[in-house]
This record gives sequence, C-alpha cells and structure tokens, in this order.
Amino acid sequence: MHEQTMEQLWSTSQLAGGNVAYMEELFETYLKDPNEVPEEWRNYFDQLPRVDENTSVDTPHKPIREQFLLISKNQRRSRPVSQGSVSSDHELKQVQVLQLINAYRGRGHQHAKLDPLDLMERQKVPDLDLSFHGLSRADLDTVFKTGSLFIGQDEASLNDILAALEMTYCGTVGSEYMHIVNTAEQRWFQQRLESVRAHPKFGSEVKLHLLERLTAAEGLEKYLGSRYPGVKRFGLEGGESLIPLMDELIQRSGTYGAKEIVIGMAHRGRLNTLINTLGKKTSDLFDEFDGKVHYESHGDVKYHQGFSSNVMTSGGEVHLALAFNPSHLEIVSPVVEGSVRARQDRRNDTTGEKVVPVIMHGDSAFAGQGVVMETFQMSQTRAYKTGGTIHIVINNQVGFTTSKREDVRSTEYCTDVAKIVEAPILHVNGDDPEAVLFVTQLAVDYRNEFKKDVVIDLVCYRRRGHNEADEPSGTQPLMYAKIKSQKTTRELYSNKLIEAGVLTQEDSKEFEEEYRKALDNGHHVAKSLVKEPNTELFVNWTPYLGHEWTARADTRFDLKQLQELANKLLEVPEGFSVQRQVGKIMEDRGRMAAGAMPINWGFAETMAYATLLHEGHQIRITGQDVGRGTFSHRHAVLHNQKDGSSYIPLQHVKEDQPPFDLYDSLLSEEAVLAFEYGYSTTTPGALVIWEAQFGDFANGAQVVFDQFISSGEHKWGRLCGLTMLLPHGYEGQGPEHSSARMERYLQLCAEHNVQICVPSTPAQVYHMLRRQVIRPLRKPLVVMSPKSLLRHKLAISTLEELAGGRFYTVIDEVDELDAKAVRRVLLCSGKVYYDLLERRRAEEINDVAIVRIEQLYPFPAKQLAKVLSKYSNVEEVIWTQEEPMNMGAWYSSQHHMRRALSQLNPDLHLQYAGRAASASPAAGYMALHLEQQETLIRDALGIQS
Ligand code: AMP
Repeated sequence: MHEQTMEQLWSTSQLAGGNVAYMEELFETYLKDPNEVPEEWRNYFDQLPRVDENTSVDTPHKPIREQFLLISKNQRRSRPVSQGSVSSDHELKQVQVLQLINAYRGRGHQHAKLDPLDLMERQKVPDLDLSFHGLSRADLDTVFKTGSLFIGQDEASLNDILAALEMTYCGTVGSEYMHIVNTAEQRWFQQRLESVRAHPKFGSEVKLHLLERLTAAEGLEKYLGSRYPGVKRFGLEGGESLIPLMDELIQRSGTYGAKEIVIGMAHRGRLNTLINTLGKKTSDLFDEFDGKVHYESHGDVKYHQGFSSNVMTSGGEVHLALAFNPSHLEIVSPVVEGSVRARQDRRNDTTGEKVVPVIMHGDSAFAGQGVVMETFQMSQTRAYKTGGTIHIVINNQVGFTTSKREDVRSTEYCTDVAKIVEAPILHVNGDDPEAVLFVTQLAVDYRNEFKKDVVIDLVCYRRRGHNEADEPSGTQPLMYAKIKSQKTTRELYSNKLIEAGVLTQEDSKEFEEEYRKALDNGHHVAKSLVKEPNTELFVNWTPYLGHEWTARADTRFDLKQLQELANKLLEVPEGFSVQRQVGKIMEDRGRMAAGAMPINWGFAETMAYATLLHEGHQIRITGQDVGRGTFSHRHAVLHNQKDGSSYIPLQHVKEDQPPFDLYDSLLSEEAVLAFEYGYSTTTPGALVIWEAQFGDFANGAQVVFDQFISSGEHKWGRLCGLTMLLPHGYEGQGPEHSSARMERYLQLCAEHNVQICVPSTPAQVYHMLRRQVIRPLRKPLVVMSPKSLLRHKLAISTLEELAGGRFYTVIDEVDELDAKAVRRVLLCSGKVYYDLLERRRAEEINDVAIVRIEQLYPFPAKQLAKVLSKYSNVEEVIWTQEEPMNMGAWYSSQHHMRRALSQLNPDLHLQYAGRAASASPAAGYMALHLEQQETLIRDALGIQS
C-alpha cells in the first residue's frame, strides 16, 4: 500500500516541474522538527546539504528546491525515499493531506463558483477528490498538521481543512498562482488568500460604498436606456462590478503613491467608466447622444472617446487618462503601455510606482488577438516594461454572437495567454462585489510588491446583445433565458445588505434616487473628481498646437561644435575593446569629422542625434536590431570584445544631456509600433523613432498605422510626432525585402495627416530628423530609408551641408546641364535616382534632367513647380520608379505632380517609366530583377536597346 502511494506521489502532477511548494512545506515542517515528518522523508531531508548549522524555517529553501528539480529532471530515476516501510498509516496520510492542500492551491479554481449565471462548463478535477490522494470520508475527523494553511493553528481535522480549502479556492474567487516559478510570489498569494479564506470581512462603510458604486453603474445604464432607447452605447449591464473595482483600484494605487493612471479599454462599459470613474460631465455625454457637438475635426463615436481628469485619493491627487480606442479591440494595450512608459520616463520613475497602466479587455479578444501575447511578452523587457500592468477582463462569456468554448478558444480560460509571463490570474464572480473588491486589492498589492503584470478575470454576463439594437436570444437562447430571470448585481447585493441589517429597503431606494437626480442635473457624478486639477501632473501640449506643415525650421548647427561632437562620439571608456570592423567605421567617422572624407549616411544620422541631444531634445529609438542597424550602418551601441559589456557614445554627448534611449526590440511589429505611438503621443518634446528591420515588416503593424498614426489627430485631436524608418529599395532581395510598401502610406494621406519622405543624401536625413523635432509641428513621419545607399559612393555629403543647409523637399538636377537644352525631366524618389544619374553620366546624355522629390507628402507642389519652371523647353516629364506600376508613388501621387505640371504648361502630360503592374512587389530571381531594372532605366533615359 505504501509503495503504491509513494509511486502515486511521484507520478502525480503535484510534483511535476516547477511546483515545489508542497515539498517545501514538508521541508519546512522538517526544519521545525524532524520528527514531524514521516521517516522516509526525514531520511531524505537528512541527506540534503545544509546551508549552515542554524538551519531554521527562515533558511532559504535552495537545497530542497534544487534537489527536487534535479529529481524531476532525472525522470525520477533516483527515488529519494526508500521503498521500504512506513512508520505509520497516519504519517502517510499526513503526507497525503499536504498533497491535497497543494492540489487545492493549484487547481481549486477549476471548481470555483465563478459564473453568476452558473452556466460555465466545469470539468471535475480528480486531484480535488479525497480518494485521489488515498483519503476517504472516514478520515474527516482525524486531526492532521495543516502546514501553513491555518495561521496560529498547527493542526485541524481533515473536515476543517477541507472546508478552509473549499472556501479559499472554490468560492467566488478562483485564484491561479501556482504556475509562478518564483516561490516568494507563490507564498505571498497563499498567505493573502488563505489568511482570510479569500473572503475578508468588510465593514458597513465599505459595503455601503460598494452599493453606492453599483448604484451608479446600474443607474447610468438605466437612465441612458430610458432616455435613448435602442441607441448604441455598449452598456455595462451585467458587469456593473467594474465600477467599484475601478474605484478601489484608483484609490488604492493612490495610497501607494501613484500620480497617474493610464487606462485602456474597448467600447463595452466605456460610457459608464467615463461618467462614473473619470467624471465626464453627464450633460456633455447627453449632448453627444443628442448630436449637439461642436465639430472641430471628423471626430469619433462616443464609445471610442478618451478622457482626462484628476481624482483625489488618500495618497493625493491622481491624474487619470483614458486612451482613445479604435474598434480593434486589443490594439490599445501597447498604446497604453507606451504612454505609461513615457510618463514614467518623464518622472524618472524606474520602478513604475508613480504611473500605473490599467487595461480592460473583453474575454474573446483577450484569448483571440495576438497583440495581447505581444504586450505580455514586452512587459518585463528593458525597452517596454512599465512596472506591471493591471489587466481586467470583462468576461461576459460571449464575443459578439460567439460563445461556444470550442469556437472561441482552445484553452480552459480566456486568460490563459497571461501565463506566458506567469502573471497571476484572479478569477472572480462579478455578482459578488466584496470578492471583486478583495481581488482588486490583491491585484494592486501584488503589482506594488512585485512590479509585474496581474490579471483580474471579472466573470459576468451581458444583459443585452452586443449592442442595444441587437437581439441576443437568437444566437444564445439558453444564456439569455437565464439572464432574463437574473437579478442585477446591485439588486442581489442590496438584498444581501438589507438582510444583514446594513441598510433598509428605503435607504437602498434613496441611493438610486440620489444618483438619478444628479444625472437629471447634468452634473459630474464621480465623487472623488478634482474640479480644479493640478496641471503639473500632465504635459502642456499648447506649444505644439496650430502649426502649419509649411513652417520652416532652422536645422543648422555650428560647424566647429559639430566636429567637436563627432570627435566626442569616438571616445570609449578606458580598456574598452572595440571590434575590428567597428573600429574601422569609427576611424572613418573621425576622418569625416576632420573633413578628410565625404560624409556617409551613418555619420550624418548619428550627428543628427548628437546635435539634437546637445540642444536638449530627448531621443528614443527602438526596433529590431537598431543598435547596430539591419545593414550595419549605425553602430550606436559598442560591444566590448573582452567582456561583452556595452557602451553608447550618444549617452555621453555632454554632462546634462537629455536621455538617449536606444533598445533592440523584441521581434514584434504590431505591439512595438503601437507602444511607440503611445510614447510619442505622450512626449511631444522627444524624437521618437521606430525602425523596421526591413520596410515590409511594418505590414504586421498596419493596424497601428491605419487606426492611430494616420487618423488619430483627426479622430481624437491627438498629435503624434513619431518617426518610422522603413528600409526600402529594389536591390534584388526578392518580394519581401525590397519594398516598404510606400503605396499603403501614401494612400492614407489626406489633410496633411502624415509626412512621407524619401531622403537620398546623408545631409537630407540629418536635416529631416532634426526638422522633425525642432519644428513645433507634430506629425508622424514615415521614411523610406535606404539600404545600399548607406554605402553608395555617390550618396555622400559634406560637413558644410550638415552645418548649413536644410531639408529640401525637392532637389533639382545636380550636374551642370544647360537648362534650356533639357528636353526631358525625370522625376523620381530614392535609390533609383543614383541608377539614373550613373547611367546618364556614363551615356553622356545632356538633355535629361533628374529631379528628386524627397517629400512625397505633404506634396511640395510649389517647390516642384519652381524647379521645373527653369526647364522652359522641356517636352517630356516622366515619373520614374523602381516599384511596379500599381505600387510605389505612381497611383497615389501622380495627381499632385500633374497639378504642378499643368501650372507650368497645360500641354505637358506626365508619363511613367517603371516596372509593369505586378501582384508581387518584386522579382525573386536576381537575373529578372536586373533585366527589369535595366529596362526601366533605359525607358526613363530614352536609351534605345
Ligand atoms: P493626458 O495626460 O493624456 O490625459 O493628457 C492631458 C491633456 O494633454 C489632454 O487633455 C490634452 O489636452 C493634452 N494632450 C495629451 N496628449 C496630447 C496629444 N497627443 N496631442 C494633443 N494634446 C494632447
């Protein structure tokens, strides 16, 4: 019997992998008194290495953990326990009881009563059965050691132990924390949950406050429902506990010293949060419903709107910012993270104490959308960490019309994706407001203690359809039959409090009436709202408002100082061993600084950063491999060949310089770009750059471009100065790495929403980057940045061009051609310019001028017309591009060019030279690529074959 049990013990899931808590418990008992554990365990523990002579309960459990993990690894080949005898049946049962306790800690949540509708399918968990552990009802009265389950009570009957476990782990709170590898965190949860059986006792004041918040949540929906019947509002009904949850979260974070909380959420419950949590004036919301809004821009629907306010907490005033949100449910998560990180950087808040990210999710999107995983994966990385995010899943158990588990996900819970970062997950029944309050406290405390992500899964329901015009019983008949008869969360709680004598029926009615009256008056109904907010808590954007895109910027920089800065960047710490090829690049940069060598791309770009830092502008650059640069041109991070340490010269430009943050990103585009959007829309003074490894990689982040970058200013009045460097150029690298798909960006251009630039010289990239910050205009900048031009012998500039000059939106012919003799003008952008130039020189063609358009949007019509006007005898104007006809700038920009031409000479028609239309962006075969390139160059220059 004993051998069998031990076999089972070793083979059961409780002892698998990282789950060592049970063993530790035994070990702890052993440390207190070796005679307290069965003999075979005693023998085993006796053989373990000692940490020191005074081993006590507090001694680190390293040896046992290491030993255990080793055993697990060795497939349990070496059994620690002799298979011989048992000292007694009771000792064996004691082991089994501890095992049972551990089973509840790990899997109790699977039996928890989480669903207010009681429809959630729950599998029976064998581990939670007495018989699974070799125990039976006959043992219920037997007294066992309880490990740490009972505070101040070493022993209890199995009956009491079971009751405690059921209450703690299988009530209205289902906690998942045993997947966390860090033992301190596991123990923290055990202690916090078990000490109060997951149901702390709250005083009457707290209970009445909960009821008041539930009344507000329910009251608003009822009010809107009767005043605007059938109008879409994506009501919170069924999930009203969110409002007391948010209240507690904000208040508790405030007591921990939070100064700002940035909130992201989709549409469900947003109006309720805006009114009851952020304190939007109710009359403003009613005006929106009534269509009485003042149109400053195109605007957005009311359930996508963001908001900012300040609320008072016992820890002081806290600024709340609800991020604007497009319809894409989860994409706001990384945007919020970026905004939070920006605020933390501004406050020098390296631990995340002062700025807290809170993201609300829907259950289906949380399980379904990949950006959730990307956001979790970013959560502890250097570039993107924010000291832990509090995630709240408003789990109404249906996504639009889809609710079958086998359709919406492959995992038991919608929250399982959070386990990739070992985030603790607190499932809670939304109809138990006190349990909701408790898990909120736990979540805030956990973040405060461990600075990691935590998830609250607020299991609730959706009283109406996806929106108020939808009839849900057509697709979810049983669920909605149940919902029909389900009392509201408020009613259930009010009844409970009335029964407990905390308040009377009349008091409860009064709560409702009071709230309704406040709504009738159109006032603010969020109680802790600060009417005259402390503006120091957020950034002043007024210097960046109201600027025209045509505004010039002085991007010049003193030549001598430029040289000094360049030389400063060549300094490395004493004994730092630079890699040979990198050393050569630095040597060359030294020669460039001395004026002894033409300036290349890497030098000019680096100097743009150095000069901006010198002038006090913060810089942040992230992206895949940005430290070195995909094509090895940047080398902003030097790596010591002796010890692998790194050094960033741009962080040492001068003593009191602003931050220069540069991080290689994780291999994500969507979340990373959204993060940088969030960062740049929060930090107007900084140059924020995201670089794609190859331009086409940005395809994976198209949603960010479509729904935020290109339209955020017009929808929400949110300015953004983000710069995106997208390597682009047809060099025979095949369909995926040639094109940054500039047509996609150009297609979205209107109302001067973004800038699309194709700089072709080092001086151009230098002035373009400087202009992006020095001009107070904050517009996203998409750059088709080069690959081979990084080293092209003709793509060079001089020191003087950096020191003087500016960014030219159009560059005229550079060779000394007789303008009057020019019969053909080629217009082009980017790398193809050099192919055309070299060939024209080689063929000694003198009647073809080549004009570069360096900014495709906003289109520099005036500048182009001015340049063209000098070619008074021109007969043909040809747009030349490397991209196929259906891509590149041809379709999106030809009307701009035609307009400029028609001003000059109405008889001039713009022609096209380039690749034929193609489904694929570029040829995969080098020979075909070369053939196509040759044809387009010949066509453009008029060379007969
Ligand atoms: P927040 O800290 O995000 O709540 O922003 C505080 C205030 O700053 C907002 O109410 C806006 O007036 C302004 N603001 C914030 N971000 C931007 C932005 N990207 N563009 C323009 N104004 C902004």
